[in-house]
Amino acid sequence: MKLLTPDIYVESVLHLDLQKLKDRKIKGLIIDIDNTLVAWDIKYASEKTKEWLLNLKKEGFEVCLVSNNTEDRVVKFNEELKLPAIHRATKPRRGAFKKAMKTMKTNINNTAVIGDQIFTDVLGGNRMGLCTVLVVPIESKEFWWTTFVRRVERHVLRVVLKEHGGEK
Ligand SMILES: [Mg+2]
Repeated sequence: MKLLTPDIYVESVLHLDLQKLKDRKIKGLIIDIDNTLVAWDIKYASEKTKEWLLNLKKEGFEVCLVSNNTEDRVVKFNEELKLPAIHRATKPRRGAFKKAMKTMKTNINNTAVIGDQIFTDVLGGNRMGLCTVLVVPIESKEFWWTTFVRRVERHVLRVVLKEHGGEK
């Protein structure tokens, strides 16, 4: 169970306390793309997320995007950001994490993995002894919201039909 438990759990990357990472002597961040930085079916990160990503460098962190998705997806997403990035990472396998640390010139003691999936990001990071950060998947938040909005819409429609249904 310990292998599946993240060290830090936050609602989104934007809620991540960077000072907390600095206190843990973290210098390198391995960051997942799909549902961590952006919903899986959206090409680019939001302005807010882009700003957050680019600010990490100023805060003194090295960053490497590590995604299990295709080269096309990762290259497109990274077009403007121009961050070091690894596609088809086959997380939770160790290869891509090692490659990322080599790129960032960091090691297992000062690198954190940030992602939305317990069985790829968290498991992969924990079994190597890296600090792991789990975020709520962006997709499911939108899904939850969509479901909620549809429910409200249906309710409003029922009320409207009840009140005005007879007029037609
Ligand atoms: Mg993901």
